[in-house]
Amino acid sequence: MTRQAIVAANWKMNGSLSLVKEMISGLKQVELASNVKVVVCPSFPYLAAYSNESTKQNLSNKFCLGAQNMSEQQNGAYTGEVSSEMLSELSVNYVILGHSERRSLYQETSNLIALKVAKALEDNLTPILCIGESEQERTAEKTEAVLASQIQPVIDEIGIEKFTEVVIAYEPVWAIGTGKTASPEMAQETHAFIRQYLANESDIVAQKVPLLYGGSVNEGNCEQLFAQTDIDGGLIGGASLKVEEFSVICSTA
Ligand code: PGA
Repeated sequence: MTRQAIVAANWKMNGSLSLVKEMISGLKQVELASNVKVVVCPSFPYLAAYSNESTKQNLSNKFCLGAQNMSEQQNGAYTGEVSSEMLSELSVNYVILGHSERRSLYQETSNLIALKVAKALEDNLTPILCIGESEQERTAEKTEAVLASQIQPVIDEIGIEKFTEVVIAYEPVWAIGTGKTASPEMAQETHAFIRQYLANESDIVAQKVPLLYGGSVNEGNCEQLFAQTDIDGGLIGGASLKVEEFSVICSTA
């Protein structure tokens, strides 16, 4: 079966209003394969500008907008937080949840992330659920246990059937922003484990979930990574800030 392929840009705390315009002008030129969607995830202050500019420049609906985080709460007295209701109002369709930087720097637990996934789905946002092991965990051969411990609370919270509306991004922590990518074989092996883990609950669901690889993906290594059976695209950090390079990655998927 052909799964939805996705190339998502995680700008992190980078970017500018001028990059918003340049990126949209650049992406307009990109030819995408028929099953590919591109999701650009700028910081909160740029979401409205991105949304307006993409309408103004007639960017096709294969190019979507995503946020990098959101609150698990409804609108209310939560200073500094951003809700899924607000994101929906800005034509945001996706939201990155559980990125390893959120887990390690802001102490987000897998249980909290599961609540965020549930809240995102309630407001029709597609969660891009990030999971991944540290270098120490891989060396100690704990990769599969760590990934299971990150996925299971979400299954417990939303139920396996709802995973057909979830995208998973596998990002080994040791590959993020380091220039060290998992080899295509290693990435495939881990993606196959993730799909099998879901298949243990429902094979039909497991076959539908797009599994993205993230961690130092660039124009030089994306082709081999995207060619793997269980890799359905990528979550791109550093290289997504460069219009030309990101365009190449999108057209390679
Ligand atoms: P990177 O980041 O591509 O710069 O390694 C990926 C990510 O953190 O999502």
